[in-house]
Amino acid sequence: MKTAVLSGTVPGHGHIRGGRETGKRYPRVRIQLLQMLAAVMLFAAVMTGPARAVTGPLAERTGFFFDTVITVSLYDTGDESILDKCFEKMAYYESIFSRTREGSDIWNIDHAGGKPVAVSEDTIDLIRRALEWCEISDGALDISIAPVVDLWDFHEDSQKEIPAQEALAEAVSHVDYTGIRIEGDEVTLEDPQAGIDLGAIAKGYISDRVRDIVIENGCSSALINLGGNVLAVGTKPDGKDFNIGIRRPFGESAYDLIQVVGASDLSVITSGTYERYFEKDGVIYHHILDPDTGYPVENGLTSVSILSEDATDGDALSTTCFVLGLEKGMELIESLDGIEAMMIDEDGKIYSSSGWTGRDYPG
Ligand code: AMP
Ligand code: MG
Repeated sequence: MKTAVLSGTVPGHGHIRGGRETGKRYPRVRIQLLQMLAAVMLFAAVMTGPARAVTGPLAERTGFFFDTVITVSLYDTGDESILDKCFEKMAYYESIFSRTREGSDIWNIDHAGGKPVAVSEDTIDLIRRALEWCEISDGALDISIAPVVDLWDFHEDSQKEIPAQEALAEAVSHVDYTGIRIEGDEVTLEDPQAGIDLGAIAKGYISDRVRDIVIENGCSSALINLGGNVLAVGTKPDGKDFNIGIRRPFGESAYDLIQVVGASDLSVITSGTYERYFEKDGVIYHHILDPDTGYPVENGLTSVSILSEDATDGDALSTTCFVLGLEKGMELIESLDGIEAMMIDEDGKIYSSSGWTGRDYPG
């Protein structure tokens, strides 16, 4: 049997948070709240240091959507109504993009038995954006991967069950993004047993749209943090970059950073094995899946971070480059203007693209 061995020797990974995506969210809310606090403290500590009183956010709200802790921090206005609009929009996106919520656009598509389904403009927009990256990556990213995702459970309270090889083989036979058809406002799955999962890209897209709301409402200095993926809007009020921390894979805590990136009008997005996984018999099974085999990608990488102006691109690319691996992933990044990457392998070795601007932490 093929297994996903990402070094059984990585230290200190027992505590890492679980998943973000099924309906089993309530038992984990308390853990998530603790993580929420840790995340807020982390960013306060990292970003502002001794000048916190001067440069801290004037308005900030934390919520829980998409099985993820989300914080929006406004630095040049205390206008709570902007936060109201941001959180209303996120609730709306959850109601249409969730794969597990009955009646959402994606749920409707996945359960339509191959019939056309009318969906919202936002859903069409996001699926189109995702399909571009599916094509560019020649299917390394494949948003029709839902049948495979369904067979795994990487949540903290997971039963640690490895799906049968035959089940995975059957599931991957339905994975083919070229069978997703869009006509007008309708989406059709040519293979009725296929299914769409936007987990690799939705959070980046939502960050971009929240940024639009923030800017439209006159705020030009903000941080949008979706589960550790951060989009910096403008600069800090003093004109300096925000500092965004990147976690050390399997580090001791959320405070254990490997690098810090100076960011203004920039998104910093990471895909990592440590974000959602279980360990069984010394083997780590994680949530980034090979669309050809259905097993977790096994290429020696533990983490891929992307810098890009557009968070949708950054999110799609973090997952895409993870699946492509070090060589092909870096090749893709170097072919794209204004996008940079850092990859970390299971020995902790860091590889950076030519324009990567992160610095070691502590520097
Ligand atoms: P991210 O954390 O952005 O790397 O996204 C990972 C999520 O994307 C997983 O939890 C799955 O929902 C989904 N996913 C996993 N593997 C793939 C893949 N090869 N193509 C598209 N989506 C994937
Ligand atoms: Mg991604």
